Amino acid sequence: MVTLGKRAILHVDMDAFYAAVEERENPALRGKPVVVGSEPKEGRGRGVVATANYAARRYGIGSAMPISEAWRRCPSAVYIRPRMRLYAEVSRGVRDIFERFTDLIEPISIDEAFLDVTASRRLYGDGPEIAKRIKSAIRSEERLTASIGCAASKFIAKIASDLDKPDGLVVVEEGREAEFLDPLPIGRLWGAGPKALERFRRLRCATIGDAASLERDVLVRTFGESMGDRFHRLSRGLDERPVVPDHVRKSLGKESTFGEDVADRKVVERTLLDLTEKVAASLRRKHMAGVTITLKLRWEGFETVTRRRTLKEPVNTTERIWPVARELLRAADRPRLKVRLVGVTLSGLDRVESGQSDLFREGSNVDGRVAEAVDTLAERFGSGTVTRAALLPDGEKDAPDDDPEPHESGGN
Ligand SMILES: [Mg+2]
Repeated sequence: MVTLGKRAILHVDMDAFYAAVEERENPALRGKPVVVGSEPKEGRGRGVVATANYAARRYGIGSAMPISEAWRRCPSAVYIRPRMRLYAEVSRGVRDIFERFTDLIEPISIDEAFLDVTASRRLYGDGPEIAKRIKSAIRSEERLTASIGCAASKFIAKIASDLDKPDGLVVVEEGREAEFLDPLPIGRLWGAGPKALERFRRLRCATIGDAASLERDVLVRTFGESMGDRFHRLSRGLDERPVVPDHVRKSLGKESTFGEDVADRKVVERTLLDLTEKVAASLRRKHMAGVTITLKLRWEGFETVTRRRTLKEPVNTTERIWPVARELLRAADRPRLKVRLVGVTLSGLDRVESGQSDLFREGSNVDGRVAEAVDTLAERFGSGTVTRAALLPDGEKDAPDDDPEPHESGGN
């Protein structure tokens, strides 16, 4: 009899998703290098690779690489324009499979999701057994492969799914997290961008185990309270974050309480802009958009107001949200009072098709494209890589840092 741990979390990641779907649709592609991205025109295409199949990866072709570079490495590969509608449909099919096992599904993107199957184990077997069933259903019903990480936390499950691709299943048993994490390179730690990695290097941390061996104090001194504490916990495999199912999420917002009440409205606006960016990026990551923008403002003495406006259509970009949030702030504000807290929330959320399709579609809105590019850069190099000086009050320059993230509020 297997003893069941506290939680069973799966991270399911489809293998080379777009390319795999294209291969499925066209058996003549099997065995050939396939690159999904905008078509290279005699090697001068300006787009990027969305997905390369494993045959193409052997030429060193990978996601986000300029298509011209992919062309240089393998001109004989089959280049295919993405068919987002098709991939979205397949994604819904995969989701239907998940839903047979749990309703706690948190999609991360069109081809990736966290599943909490803790309560499903009575019916379907333990976490690894459910993972096997999901993999085999995806194989037989969608003729595709997925890699799954199975663990007691999201952090570990996410790392695990990536370690044995394609068609992998990596199980990390509860209590063996340290064994699993310790030898991994420090770059696998969530939230460790280039800046943080440089600081880890100076602390002589090359692996997650090195970080786990440090006192919490050392990490907090180096990275600040919030980040330091996060690294401390994650490096020791401690991650209690729940899987947040998307269908109950009706709003998404962030707020920030100032360390000291603030009189300077430039500081307030800059903070609100920062929060707006984070909310917008988070919505896009979840493939969601909201129709109502709510501003929350609290002054010294704790008096609080909220002001909201509902737009004609759902939005998920800073460019669309920020002007409204700022206007609501300016209209509600009492300039003689100092500000204690500011926040912004989007509600009336709806799912939208992956913004990635905008990268390739003719006449797509530039707004979404810029936002997508910013997201990609932020993911690769840490947030704050791309600044938006133009949006800031009085042309002030942003001074990004890997400061502690304001906590998320109003999640449900
Ligand atoms: Mg994938």
